[in-house]
Amino acid sequence: MSIDAVPARSVDYNRVFAQAIDRLHEEGRYRVFIDILRNKGQFPNARCFAGHNGPKPITVWCSNDYLAMGQHPAVIAAMEEALHDVGAGSGGTRNIGGNTHYHIDLETELADLHDKEAALLFTSGYVSNEATLSTIARILPGCIIFSDELNHASMIAGIRHSGCEKRVFRHNDLAHLEHLLAAEDPSVPKLIAFESVYSMDGDVAPIHAICDLADKYNALTYLDEVHAVGMYGARGGGISERDDAASRLTIVEGTLGKAFGVMGGYIAADRTVIDVIRSYAPGFIFTTSLSPVLVAGALASVRHLKGSTAEREGQQAAAATLKTLFADAGLPVMDTTTHIVPLMVGDPVKAKRISDILLREYGVYVQPINYPTVPRGTERLRFTPGPAHDTAMMQELTAALVEIWGRLELRKAA
Ligand SMILES: *Cc1c(COP(=O)(O)O)cnc(C)c1O
Repeated sequence: MSIDAVPARSVDYNRVFAQAIDRLHEEGRYRVFIDILRNKGQFPNARCFAGHNGPKPITVWCSNDYLAMGQHPAVIAAMEEALHDVGAGSGGTRNIGGNTHYHIDLETELADLHDKEAALLFTSGYVSNEATLSTIARILPGCIIFSDELNHASMIAGIRHSGCEKRVFRHNDLAHLEHLLAAEDPSVPKLIAFESVYSMDGDVAPIHAICDLADKYNALTYLDEVHAVGMYGARGGGISERDDAASRLTIVEGTLGKAFGVMGGYIAADRTVIDVIRSYAPGFIFTTSLSPVLVAGALASVRHLKGSTAEREGQQAAAATLKTLFADAGLPVMDTTTHIVPLMVGDPVKAKRISDILLREYGVYVQPINYPTVPRGTERLRFTPGPAHDTAMMQELTAALVEIWGRLELRKAA
């Protein structure tokens, strides 16, 4: 080959990238991020920077800061105090300079919250799932992971990176799970990975029944309580606390970024399991630890919600009101037993269209939920009312949706 030869078929990289984006547009699921600033002291009110005439006031209906702890005075004060006391960042990994007293205190608090011996912080819930699942299954030779089909992307990533065998069971289907467990060699290590509250359908796993199967087939259990911590149980320990099942679970995982209103993720388990993850998980070891400012805020939030039930009660009341208003108006609200209030649309283009009209004409912000977050054909709008959404806001929202449903000739409830 001469030095000036050009390969006959060179790759047109830009074209490949542009085509990848075009496919999303064609399917109507190209994601547009809305540019907002929430107003502390006035959640769920916020400012939206979408138009050209300066910020426009909106109401946020899709935040996972479920209990408005992100603006709680105790959380803000703790973060301010930490910032002024120790500065902005942690300055290192947990092993090299970044292990602060705040981290240790929060881990102790989280272990207690879940009735476990120990806990371990990660930079997010995503990382905690990915790092823990990929590591634990690598430590157990021949391990098979049994995974609910609706498990979150971060759990799926962890299972994949573990390189181990996996069996996917139908959502919350105990008979199918047992069928899969029974088919394997009893001497092989097994782990059942599932969630408590499934955040898109708003349903809840039968934790005790799954633990019964784990006992019968000698399997470990891993429960993602991301959409339940802070919100269920007498102290906010999640569905496993509410159902008095925490002690039966091997590992409980949670986030500090949703109901706790700050940022970060964690697992809680017995001391040996925590020590293994701490010692072997690259996603824990090779990254700067959470800022002590964030940890201080999360600590204040966890402590507050352990003692206060007003936020949980306010959220449950708001969710019940909104479900009733939607149902009475004939809107296709999905049947849920939790704080999640999804409206089924079943089409990505329509879901986006409704969301656009709500924002533009009504100042209502709710993001359409599309594939791959939910299966194709089940695209929806997912509302997360909380203690800061009042009845008047909910009535206005319902009226807006009824008007749009009529305008777009959408399907009403059966
Ligand atoms: C949001 C979410 C996570 C990830 O938590 P982050 O703290 O946001 O990274 C994990 N699991 C489930 C089920 C989630 O919905």
